[in-house]
Amino acid sequence: MTAREWLEKAKREKFAIGAFNVGNLETFKAIVAAAHAKKSPVIIESSPGETEWMEADNIVDLARNYSKDLGIPILVNLDHAESLEQCQIGIEAGYDLIHFDGSKLAFEENLEIAKKVVALAHQKGLIVEGEFDHIQGSSEVHSGSAKVESAKIPMTDPNKAEQFVKVTGVDILAAFFGNVHGVFSEGGEDLDLDRLEEISSKMPDKFLSLHGGSGIADEQVKEAIERGITKVNINTEMRQAFRENMENVLDKNPDEIAMYKIEQPVIDEIQKIVEQKIDVFGSANKI
Ligand SMILES: [Zn+2]
Repeated sequence: MTAREWLEKAKREKFAIGAFNVGNLETFKAIVAAAHAKKSPVIIESSPGETEWMEADNIVDLARNYSKDLGIPILVNLDHAESLEQCQIGIEAGYDLIHFDGSKLAFEENLEIAKKVVALAHQKGLIVEGEFDHIQGSSEVHSGSAKVESAKIPMTDPNKAEQFVKVTGVDILAAFFGNVHGVFSEGGEDLDLDRLEEISSKMPDKFLSLHGGSGIADEQVKEAIERGITKVNINTEMRQAFRENMENVLDKNPDEIAMYKIEQPVIDEIQKIVEQKIDVFGSANKI
């Protein structure tokens, strides 16, 4: 099945496909092990920094290898590419989905580049995600409340969203309805689910993604899926688990130098997080 067919199935059956970022091979192994254990489709994604580190061709090859070996659908998404050039790296490497994030650009410029990305990507049958209200925060652990971060800009206007997807032809919209990137020490992430539903009603033939999925209460995520979300992005919680568990394992095994022995327990902990997310997203046993 193609990425479009998977998103259509998710929308029809009201589940979401988790889009998990890969910053290294260990995270990759954890995600695919979780998808395999849960019999779930999964999206592997790389931000510009991660794409540079892992290299686009490697990410695609690893995804195809694991998909074949484990018999699970693994889609590959280019996450938050900020220019046409960055998008082309993913298109040429054979990614399945391309997220062009023009939200830091002027609206008109964003529209123009998004149209070009759509033309290039659709020629190859790829899915394009667009964004115009810059989703705040970053994939880190922040101190304070998410409320401060999410109040920085107004939430997505449903009419503007309708215009954006119509003019650009993007398939997925990354809307802002209270979601912010990262995990906040005081919590405070609160989704405007009525707004999400209104945005969704304006674009019945399109898909909606939830960025900044880390740190949002499971019940809210489930409700967001009920109201139209079919892709949820997760990064920070995996990064956090990697770092904390790696420190733990190194502390407990000061003499161990075989990397794969150090890394397996770290992978196991990240896998648990991904499996828990898959349960929340309702994508288990959908293969
Ligand atoms: Zn994001």
